[in-house]
Order: sequence, then C-alpha cells, then structure tokens
Amino acid sequence: MREILRAAADRATAYLEGLDDRAVAPNPDAVARLRALDIPMPDEPTAAESVLRELDEVCSPATIGIAGPRFYGFVIGGSLPTALAANWLASAWDQNTGLYNITPATAVLEQVSLKWMLDLLGLPPDCAGAFVTGTTVAHISALAAARHSVLARAGWNVEADGLFGAPPITVVIGQEAHPTLTKALGVIGLGRNRVIRVPVDAQGRMIASKMPRLSGPSIVCAQAGNLNTGSFDPLREICERGREAGAWIHIDGAFGLWARVAPSRAHLTDGIELADSWATDGHKWLNVPYDSGLAFVRDGDALRAAMAITAEYLPTVSEHRNPSDYTPELSRRARGVDIWAALRSLGRRGVAEMVEKNCRQARRFAEALTGAGYEVLNDVVLNQVMVSFGDPELTNRIIAGIQLDGTCWCGGTVWQGRTAMRISVISWATTDEDVERSIQAILRVAAQERGLD
Ligand SMILES: *Cc1c(COP(=O)(O)O)cnc(C)c1O
Repeated sequence: MREILRAAADRATAYLEGLDDRAVAPNPDAVARLRALDIPMPDEPTAAESVLRELDEVCSPATIGIAGPRFYGFVIGGSLPTALAANWLASAWDQNTGLYNITPATAVLEQVSLKWMLDLLGLPPDCAGAFVTGTTVAHISALAAARHSVLARAGWNVEADGLFGAPPITVVIGQEAHPTLTKALGVIGLGRNRVIRVPVDAQGRMIASKMPRLSGPSIVCAQAGNLNTGSFDPLREICERGREAGAWIHIDGAFGLWARVAPSRAHLTDGIELADSWATDGHKWLNVPYDSGLAFVRDGDALRAAMAITAEYLPTVSEHRNPSDYTPELSRRARGVDIWAALRSLGRRGVAEMVEKNCRQARRFAEALTGAGYEVLNDVVLNQVMVSFGDPELTNRIIAGIQLDGTCWCGGTVWQGRTAMRISVISWATTDEDVERSIQAILRVAAQERGLD
C-alpha cells in the first residue's frame, strides 16, 4: 500500500511541476491516444503500479492545465497545495460524512469551516450551510429552502404535498442570470421559463427599478459576479425592494461572493447580507479541489425542512449537526476538510490577498490590451476581462490561435451580441510574471493573425 500511494503522490507532484513548461491546452496527439483506454472490460486483475502508470502516461498529457498558473477559462481556479494535500488525506480517511455520530471528525471540520466562512464573508453568523458539489446544487438546495418557506407562509407544506395545487410562486431573476440558476429552478419545479426576467444594463446588472411589484409567495434571485463582466447587481436596492414585499432573496455568488473578503472590492457586495440565501463555490476563488459548492441559508429550519430525511435505521436524532440534514445527498465526501485546510492555511489575510492579487492582474490584462489598441468590452471591476480583437471571425481566430500557442488558455464568449475573448484571473498560482508572459503571447498571436487578415 505504501508504495502505490507514494507512487501516486510522486506522479501527481511531477504532473503539477510540469504544468509550467507544457502547453495549457491538452496535447492533440495525447487526446487521440485516449482511444487506447477503450478496451473490453478486463477479465483479469492488473497490478496497482500498472494501473497508475497507464492513467498517468495515457491521461496526464491529455488533461487541460487548469491546475497551472496560466489557465484563464470559465472562472474556475486551481487547487492550493495545502487544500489538495488535505483532500488526499480526507480521501484516505474515506469518511461518509452524512452523520455526526458516525464521522465526527469530518462533521466537525464542516461545522467549523462553515462558521469561519460566515465570519469571513460577513454573512449572518447563525446561517445554516450545505456543503455540496457546486453552485448548481447550492442553488437547488437554497431554492428548495426558499420554496419551503414562501409556501409554508401561504399555508402549504410542499415537502408533503408537492407543487400540484400549491399557491403559485412568483420568481424574479435578472436577464443575465447564470444558466445554472434557471436549471436549478427547473429541477425544483418552479420552471425555467415561467420566471420574470428583469432587464439589465450594459454591464449585465439588473435594473432594480424595473423589478415587478411583488405580492404573495415570491423569490427574487440576484447575482454577485457576472460570468462575463464580473459586475454585481445593485444588491442593496434589490434586497430592500424584495424584503418590503416579503420575498425570499437568493444570491448567485459563485465567485463574486469572495469579493467581500477583499478590502478594495467589498463595496461591490454592499447589502448582500440582507438576502436570505447565498450560493457560492469553494472550487472557484477559494481554490480548493473539485467538487466543492456551498449554500448558506439564513433560516436553517427551512433548509432542514427541505433536505433532512428521517429513516429509522439512521441515527439522525442528535444534538450535533448532521451534514446530510442540509444537503440533497446522504452519502457524501468530506468537503469541509479541503475548505478548512484552505482557510486555516491562508487566514483572512491570505484569502484577501489572493482575491486582491487576481483583481489587480485582471486590470493589468485590460491595461495592456487597451494599450495595444484592442477594445475591452467591460468595466474591469473584479477579475473578468472581455476583449474584442475586431470582427467576430478575427476574434475567434485569435482565440483559437492563443489556445494552440499554449502559453495560456482563454475562452470565447458572446456579450450582448459581440464576440469576445474572456480572461478570468482566479488562480492562487498565477504570478505577475505569468500575466506578463500571457500578455506577450496574446499580443504576439493577435498580431500574427491580423497580419494574415
Ligand atoms: C460557475 C458559476 C455557476 C455554476 O457553478 P458550478 O459550481 O459549476 O455548479 C453559477 N453561477 C455563476 C455566476 C458561476 O460563475
């Protein structure tokens, strides 16, 4: 056992150390060689060392360098070495972290990291929390609590009686809401399309004065951190309007909630603490391994009403917090361990510096690209930069060229009808030198492609 685990640690370390010198995009020949995996179900056992070697030799070169310092796609972050190490230890523990009585260590780590995050993020200290796979499931969990609460107030028990015949719920979202929010609304039976969409401004921010007048059971979903622009809805105004009408206010803060930790960005989140629930990711700005999402819910009873199960063979009655009383899953990995390790190692100052650094680096990208004559389409308020190199065809060709060059990786997007390249700076590993190297590569490829124009 010792040998195989050491071998895995050695291979993983060599992989991570190698990321600085290889193309960020997966090697196309290596991707083609993945075909080698497609063999019939083996009849006989294979030695552990061969299994590991096959994985590393066939698959490592076919991975994309998300864990490396120059991946700027999708707003997703890397893994802090301490969080990764803690994740390995937690995998070795193999704790099924549903019930305190069975897995006290990992249950307590969740509880402590929940308390720390509420403090760090400036949310009400007695919020309940769900440690789930990602913001998508955090939305599902928080919105299930919302559904419970607004219908309970209308005299309807949705967990017992379902939605058929229930009083209708008005759901309000911004025109630029993340598609996972509408997916979550669909999953919990509130409908992807029966929502009221509020118009947004040029940065994608909901225009609060255009919110509908609310009455009866209502849920308002606002966004802290637009996937393209990084902009924030006017949270204080939305929360105040929603509260006045007795609506439940839910915030999508998948990465943007972490702006609250950074002194120079915290103003963007002003009023966010007035909401009823918040969804965010640990695997984005906190830089812990996948999968790690979080729902924070002010009314813990509502979340438990939506999520807790009771079955006689399970010791759910306990004075301790049972993690599975708050989540869609029963059996689950110990997500609190990686989060605890990240927070313990960085401290408040370390998290703030990471967020500040990435925001500063995003500004540097914007400055350099603007300086070179390219158009940055968004106000760079956070860590997101959108740049157009000209017409859509040229912009797409330059994005493909940058991915092929391999120094860094940026994806494409269409923002309010305009084709753009998106740069998301959100990794602990990205140094200022990485940013300069990436800028040089982007400008070089752009000049080449324009020369061919
Ligand atoms: C990433 C993201 C999501 C979805 O999060 P997952 O962890 O992928 O489920 C939702 N909203 C926003 C704003 C995001 O950036």
